[in-house]
Amino acid sequence: MHLQTKTLQETDEKYLWHAMRGAASPGQPNLIITKAEGAWVTDIEGNRYLDGMAGLWCVNTGYGRKELAEAAYKQLLEMPYYPLSQSHVPAIQLAEKLNEWLGGDYVIFFSNSGSEANETAFKIARQYHRQRGDLDRYKFISRYRAYHGNTMGALAATGQAQRKYKYEPLGQGFLHVAPPDTYRHPDDVETLESAKEIDRVMTWELSETIAGVIMEPIITGGGILLPPDGYMAKVKEICEKHGALLICDEVICGFGRTGKAFGFMHYGVKPDIITMAKGITSGYLPLSATAVKREIYEAYAGSEDYDRFRHVNTFGGNPAACALALKNLELMENEALFERSRILGERLLEALKSLKDHPNVGDVRGKGLLVGIELVENKQTKEPAAVEKLNKVISTCKEKGLLIGKNGDTVAGFNNVLQLSPPLSITDDDFRTIVQVLKESIFQL
Ligand code: PMP
Repeated sequence: MHLQTKTLQETDEKYLWHAMRGAASPGQPNLIITKAEGAWVTDIEGNRYLDGMAGLWCVNTGYGRKELAEAAYKQLLEMPYYPLSQSHVPAIQLAEKLNEWLGGDYVIFFSNSGSEANETAFKIARQYHRQRGDLDRYKFISRYRAYHGNTMGALAATGQAQRKYKYEPLGQGFLHVAPPDTYRHPDDVETLESAKEIDRVMTWELSETIAGVIMEPIITGGGILLPPDGYMAKVKEICEKHGALLICDEVICGFGRTGKAFGFMHYGVKPDIITMAKGITSGYLPLSATAVKREIYEAYAGSEDYDRFRHVNTFGGNPAACALALKNLELMENEALFERSRILGERLLEALKSLKDHPNVGDVRGKGLLVGIELVENKQTKEPAAVEKLNKVISTCKEKGLLIGKNGDTVAGFNNVLQLSPPLSITDDDFRTIVQVLKESIFQL
């Protein structure tokens, strides 16, 4: 190890508080990544890894895209900052482009992170009801196992106890229902009971107190849980019946991750509000957006000061981030990356099918380049595999040069799904490497 690496590691340990870590967290020293190109990252010692998680599910167009850096640089020189209480050209163009991608009539509010995009959605939804004289609607329903962000409202919407319980009380008015989980509850495919539960909860809670439902089209960080066909359409129907809004969290599922521009597009629904982040800039700069159906925006039409949306953030919709996002969307279009995600996703599921022969592999599932491998102790009882088994696969993959992730609701005992979400721009060689390393690592269990 180079002297410089050791010093940096020591300084890192001393001064940086890393995500999801405490002072005494055991583990290896952090990777210090110094270079990245395509789907590959290189650490300070020159070790190369195929980034099977696209950073944190976000580097959709891959690393090292000069066009993206140049778009941001050019905008920074021309006009680096102006708040969106007024306007600027990159934000206008990006809002128009997102509308084209969304295939609808949406008005866009820009922020900086997925959590903020969701907070913005909650505030817009609550005020929307109040603007219309529907004064009691404040509750939101979300699903256990889903993650919606780290702020007090988005965390309240999150359905993973281990991320929440030491920070309570969180934002008020958030309720949870069980997610669809067709591996453990195959009957749900026919009955859609998990959707119907939302109907019952709305009735029990009183329809007129429900502001909305927030859901990812596919639960991602909570274990890649795909809904049964018809689930999302049923939830939309239930929302309409009770006068609630459907908020779709596309922070991970958006921008081609699941093989279409947005995840909801697989399920034939048009959400009322759509939140997005991550892939919008492929992680190169912070940016997020909350897209709102025009009729919701138009409820903010009163002439009193308090009829406006009293919400501002300093950095949201930064011009360089918007210019970069526009270029990023252009790359995805020119390279047909959704299509690539869809095709490679299908090939990946096919190539990983044989994993099911392993006694610890309960399920392999996904859509586009979003794949989960659920490990169990026992295929009959579906008892979740011990986390050590997942850690072993993850560290074998890492030794072989592939970085993958896992979900982690340790309190509820669900941290048994290996997760894969590589850049959509992976090459055919990268694809083969992923398949080979994953298989070898799992069969070494
Ligand atoms: N929603 C979902 C589905 C997410 O996966 C995340 C982040 N992983 C967020 C919201 C929050 O995004 P951010 O970390 O940018 O605040």
